Amino acid sequence: MPQGTPYHAFIPPYPIRVDDFTDPSSSTYTFSGRQKTASLYLLTHTHTDHLMGLSARSFGQTIVCSHDAKEMLLRHEVYAERALRDAELRAENVRTFAHLKVEPQRMEDGSVDYTGSRDLLRPTYTHIPTKFVLNDDEEVTITLLDANHCPGAVMFLVEGSKGSVLHTGDLRVEPWFLESLKHNPFIQRYIRDSRSSSSTNVLPTLDAIHLDTACLLNDYEVPPKADAAVALTSLMALYPQSTRFFLNVWTWGYEDIYKEVARKFDTKIHVDRYKHSVYAHISGDPFLQSIITKDESSTRFHACERFERCEHVRVNGRESHTPSGHHVVYVNPVNMDIQTWQRYLEETREQLQKGKEVNVLKLKDYAA
Ligand SMILES: [Zn+2]
Ligand SMILES: [Zn+2]
Repeated sequence: MPQGTPYHAFIPPYPIRVDDFTDPSSSTYTFSGRQKTASLYLLTHTHTDHLMGLSARSFGQTIVCSHDAKEMLLRHEVYAERALRDAELRAENVRTFAHLKVEPQRMEDGSVDYTGSRDLLRPTYTHIPTKFVLNDDEEVTITLLDANHCPGAVMFLVEGSKGSVLHTGDLRVEPWFLESLKHNPFIQRYIRDSRSSSSTNVLPTLDAIHLDTACLLNDYEVPPKADAAVALTSLMALYPQSTRFFLNVWTWGYEDIYKEVARKFDTKIHVDRYKHSVYAHISGDPFLQSIITKDESSTRFHACERFERCEHVRVNGRESHTPSGHHVVYVNPVNMDIQTWQRYLEETREQLQKGKEVNVLKLKDYAA
């Protein structure tokens, strides 16, 4: 969780901490008059600001997350290490969170030695309520719900004898998403008719919602992801068929752009070894898996390693053409309010229609 999260990232009244894995001595918090220590950790998704403390080898507690988040975490590599691996200077991948899962060793005589083996990540499927014991006299039921944010990102609904708490993590509340929540049987039962004042024993109460308000508190309007992707690809379609595009995105969460490019141009997208290994192992998005390729020559759309682009989109210095003469257009995410973005779209469309060379396209950013 970003710094300054209320309750030190606990979700009172439960001794559960979300997206904060810093030193256990700081993971105590006093509520209901008692000092609590975290009995269970939850991880909403794998963006770096939600992984604080998790790379410490000393961390040794159970973490609940989605299956895809587990795969992404165990495959996580930092750029400097990826570069060495790709340059074949390092034969082994250095995986940042490998200490969270240590396989038992198979000995020469065929026996298995479990000393030091462990698997701290408890992956759970969405919409399957699962019981977790917190301590001798306390257990909770946790249900994971999609957060519409990036691969593997979930919200947590925690229910127990002390009440019900929803922790959203980062989420993208678009109109369709809000509508789907209204129909989600795990959330639906907490939605009351605002006109009815009588309280009954039938409907349960959601006692607290932990909501990331980063975008909510901005005073500018943000377009839905799908609109940003469609607008971008409609500009890309104005270029000649020989133009190559470099999608300059490096965090998880821009996958809708790849999908829209694949749909619009009936093509795959070249991704680097690292992205390919992560996407190929997440089970929640078969469409994404079907549109990525490691074959750099098979497509003019690239989302390969940004500082080590493949030769199909590699240019010298600030040039906009490859040494073989292909025009390379960059797609860069940029923060803009909706009015600036719409003006930008109109102006760029006009320039392209007049045949002007535009070397950079701006993507209305949304993935943070
Ligand atoms: Zn995030
Ligand atoms: Zn490439």
